[in-house]
Amino acid sequence: MPVNTNRSKHRIFILDLNFMEIKRAIAAYLIPHSNGAVLVECGPGSTLDALQLGLEEYNFRIDDVTDVFLTHIHLDHAGAAGWLARNGARIHVHPIGAPHLLNPEKLLASAGRIYGQLMDTLWGEVLPVPQSHLIVHHDGENIEVHDLVLRAIDTPGHANHHFAYIFENTCFSGDIAGVRLPGPPHLRLPMPPPEFHPEKWRNSLNKLSQVEFDHIAPTHFGIYTDAKWHISRANKALDDVEAWMEKAMTADPPVEVLQEEFVRWARHLSQRDGLDKDLVDSYEVTNPSWMSAHGIYRYWKKVLNKQPEG
Ligand SMILES: [Zn+2]
Repeated sequence: MPVNTNRSKHRIFILDLNFMEIKRAIAAYLIPHSNGAVLVECGPGSTLDALQLGLEEYNFRIDDVTDVFLTHIHLDHAGAAGWLARNGARIHVHPIGAPHLLNPEKLLASAGRIYGQLMDTLWGEVLPVPQSHLIVHHDGENIEVHDLVLRAIDTPGHANHHFAYIFENTCFSGDIAGVRLPGPPHLRLPMPPPEFHPEKWRNSLNKLSQVEFDHIAPTHFGIYTDAKWHISRANKALDDVEAWMEKAMTADPPVEVLQEEFVRWARHLSQRDGLDKDLVDSYEVTNPSWMSAHGIYRYWKKVLNKQPEG
């Protein structure tokens, strides 16, 4: 699935990591350069076979990957980074994410609190990234790799360790511009605890709307040519979530009730946009509604501190 337009010199290939046997849920993006290739995202340890197959399809092997650009360190984006580093790749990351790649224990404990016994099935093995292979960037930095240049843009809101990368006319948006799967136009925001923060999120989207690009490549999933529409749709999704949260949380429901209500609301929005059941299931695997409900709940209680935690 190559994408090439007249304003981009380089081709971008979409590698489908076939996460949990579901097509078009998690992508890694492959950009060949004059001496190998870079990846934007590498997916979790559980999809390494699919990553290798995807590389082979374009005549690359793992050790041709010179650099991996991580939008953030959540395991569905970055879990395999340690393994790629062992195979020689440099790993590019946000400064707040770097310590957790060097020493993944805290990251794994935090993910373990969310995913429990599903940890291994979902994410596979997570290896640390050695310091020698870790490269930390700052907001606005242009990063050169052979004949490629990617610009890192600090974009918190989904996570505090989140970069979007601008490459030629494409924005690799990670999770900050939401999850959008191929099919009827529909977009969902992934709002996991503990760092979901709508104000920061809105600022990040505003920041991106001031940058020039016309293609957008969310990690979940694909390259879309209507970047402006996509960003405005993400803004609208944020407005909707805030209005929903205000209403739902005023009744001070227990988290389990909030979760049920949120799942119902997400289903309603999917039906309104004309999604079929399989596609709704894909959205749920990629970005579980129950997880976002927990993120919303925590934000309301701990960040806004509207009510004492019961
Ligand atoms: Zn994420």
